[in-house]
Amino acid sequence: MNARVEALRRSLEEPLLILDRTNVRYLTGFDSSNAAMLVDEDDVKLYADFRYAAAGRAVDGAQFVETKRALLTALAEQLSGRIAFEPDALTYSGYETLKKGGLELVPRPGLVERLRAVKDEQELAAIKRASEITSAAIARLAEEPFIGRSERDLAWQLQSFLHELGSDGVAFDIGLGTGAGGALPHAHPSERVVAEGDLVVVDVGAVAGGYCSDCTRTFAAGLPARHLVHAYTVCHDAQLAALAAIRPGLTGVEADLAARGPIEAAGFGENFGHGLGHGVGLLVHEAPRLSTESSDTLEAGNVFSVEPGIYLEGVGGIRIEDLVVLRDDGVEVLTGFTKELVTVR
Ligand code: ZN
Ligand code: ZN
Repeated sequence: MNARVEALRRSLEEPLLILDRTNVRYLTGFDSSNAAMLVDEDDVKLYADFRYAAAGRAVDGAQFVETKRALLTALAEQLSGRIAFEPDALTYSGYETLKKGGLELVPRPGLVERLRAVKDEQELAAIKRASEITSAAIARLAEEPFIGRSERDLAWQLQSFLHELGSDGVAFDIGLGTGAGGALPHAHPSERVVAEGDLVVVDVGAVAGGYCSDCTRTFAAGLPARHLVHAYTVCHDAQLAALAAIRPGLTGVEADLAARGPIEAAGFGENFGHGLGHGVGLLVHEAPRLSTESSDTLEAGNVFSVEPGIYLEGVGGIRIEDLVVLRDDGVEVLTGFTKELVTVR
């Protein structure tokens, strides 16, 4: 079959049942809400119900098996012996259904996710395209009037720019927070109106060819207070320090520390409550993780965000997020929009 399935096969100790929708999509290009794959030493089966049969039969290199709508019941009847499964993709009741079929089930987490973390050139091209659309949409937004407009209004405006620029959708619901609302790392756009002196945090990602991008920029509406501008400078310097330090072979914890160190040294350690970054690909959050809790090691071909933040409760927030691809000699930044503090009207 294809190189991805071949690579997966090399990591298997027993046949692997794949129930994660994104993993099936990654391995076959086939997207269904009710599908499974069985990758064995010498064959690949793809299971789905009638609704997906035509698309399933068209998949190259896999034997398509049409099942009833109750997919797991069908699999329990058809499969036998010792089978690996993805523990994050199977509910407890689904596990019980398979178990009733007499299968010996072995949990094997993260096998496909590990492959997905290293992008090939085709994937990189899609992610670059999504990043270009995202940067262009942010550039258009920066030309818009901000002061006096609501977060919701600005978020919708940004979404329409993504659409006009050719995005296949949004990678996630746009985050947009102004003033004290920007101090919430996941700011849902509200009716709050941008006021003179606010910092406005905008988090957005386009989709191209099935792949996501992710970018955050923080704007100054008019002239913000001096301590907010100082905090922005600290965050910006930390982001640049991390970009300069990150190399293949660094752990996710070490990469996180490259930004966390300077932020802590400036006295804002308590205000940076999330990890430095996350992998981006078919999903907007995937392996590897860059955080104090990560168990990943970075390698060339990883695509991830580098997004330190400083959140001052009740006052305002700052986050600067680039998407990067890791090369042998360091990061290549895919996000084109400036990181200087841009003043909006
Ligand atoms: Zn983001
Ligand atoms: Zn992100």
